[in-house]
Amino acid sequence: MSPENLDPGILDKEYVWHPFTPMRLWMEDDAPVIERGEGSYLIDTRGCRYLDGVSSLWCTIHGHNHPQITAAIKAQADRIAHSTTLGLANVPSAMLARRLVELAPRGLTKVFYSDNGSTAVEVALKIAYQYRRLAPEAAERKKTGFISFRNAYHGDTLGSVSVGGIELFHGAFRDLLFPVEFAEYPYYYRLGCSRSRQAYLEDCLDSLERLMQRVAERTGALIIEPLVQGAGGMIIAEPGFLSGVRALCERFDILLIADEVATGFGRTGKMFAVEHENVTPDFLCLAKGLTAGYLPLAATLVTRKIFDRFLGSGESPLTFYHGHSFTGNPLAAAAAQASLEVFEKEHVLEQMQPKIEFLHELLESKIAPLAIVGEVRQCGFMTGIELVADLKQREPFPPSLRVGAKVTREARKGGVIIRPLGDVLVLMPHLSFSKDELKQLVLVTARSIEAVQAGL
Ligand code: PMP
Repeated sequence: MSPENLDPGILDKEYVWHPFTPMRLWMEDDAPVIERGEGSYLIDTRGCRYLDGVSSLWCTIHGHNHPQITAAIKAQADRIAHSTTLGLANVPSAMLARRLVELAPRGLTKVFYSDNGSTAVEVALKIAYQYRRLAPEAAERKKTGFISFRNAYHGDTLGSVSVGGIELFHGAFRDLLFPVEFAEYPYYYRLGCSRSRQAYLEDCLDSLERLMQRVAERTGALIIEPLVQGAGGMIIAEPGFLSGVRALCERFDILLIADEVATGFGRTGKMFAVEHENVTPDFLCLAKGLTAGYLPLAATLVTRKIFDRFLGSGESPLTFYHGHSFTGNPLAAAAAQASLEVFEKEHVLEQMQPKIEFLHELLESKIAPLAIVGEVRQCGFMTGIELVADLKQREPFPPSLRVGAKVTREARKGGVIIRPLGDVLVLMPHLSFSKDELKQLVLVTARSIEAVQAGL
């Protein structure tokens, strides 16, 4: 092979099919090939440095190549990289399970491992379904349906897609999916702005209550992204929505599945988003940041009540028929344990608090006033910037203009990696970004929006 044929950029174009990517456009893109990471920076094969403004798809928590996490992975690799949890236990996954139960809201006492956000959700959906099928009472055995929310995103396996509410992503697979009831998630900027925020919140909860009245008999669980719908466009629910949903679930005997794949591990300013409203869900789905973004690992935490039903009685123990090859992988579990130690040792959540306010000030002064910025939404370090063609009418740009994608390309030229969700720009720095890095992230984003705006 000639040296040119070993260029990873060329090899990528030749052989790799990228996720969520229009591949024809990818072929024309000169996207960097990342070779190394250092703290908040990605470094490509040409030696160019880019500020990682989206935590490598919302995964990195303490930055790249954190010495303690790297050391923990190396030490574990010297012992064993993988051993199955089917028929065997392993040291790191047992230790991590205990730590997760300690950290999670009280009452979540059992940990089922898998390896990504979609499977964390898939596991919750299947446990919820089987839990109802195993009920002693005939009426409860009918409660096998699900409620989800419009604009929800829970992953790409078919169960997770069934509870997904984004037409663009999920519509193509509709005929393969099981039926789900969809309720409105508060999206004040687009759906509620003719009323006060409080009135809109009450309307959303009222319509959920009416839905539950209609379907509770056949509905066993509700799945929600607490506080923030991420992939739907960084849509931030009004305070009180989550606790209102919790109360309704209790009233109608509907299990609450909190999908914290995106919001978990400090992104919203607390370890888990449900803590903001003192909510204990029946299921907690975790992935992405669980290993600080170092290795694929997911966990679905459940209550003892749910677990106990699967114990069965007497001669007939029951089984949850689900499991993956890499379930409870020791390397990944060691990375996760190390990450949780870093949270404590570096006081990550405490250190982050003043920076949340600092980011807010930057966004308000540098981004919000720009002519095509309709709304800036922020929850902790999760940020969405919604770009619109007309501020007054809140009119979106035609999708064919790909305005969000143009801004991110412009930002890349300025040394910053961000990613759009349609015309919502996402900023999601890792939790230990310095103030200077936050400034660089926001200023380059602002300049990139202005540059694209000028060319429209
Ligand atoms: N749930 C939520 C809330 C997510 O944001 C995502 C991914 N963005 C997933 C589930 C799916 O996770 P994964 O891509 O690891 O399958």
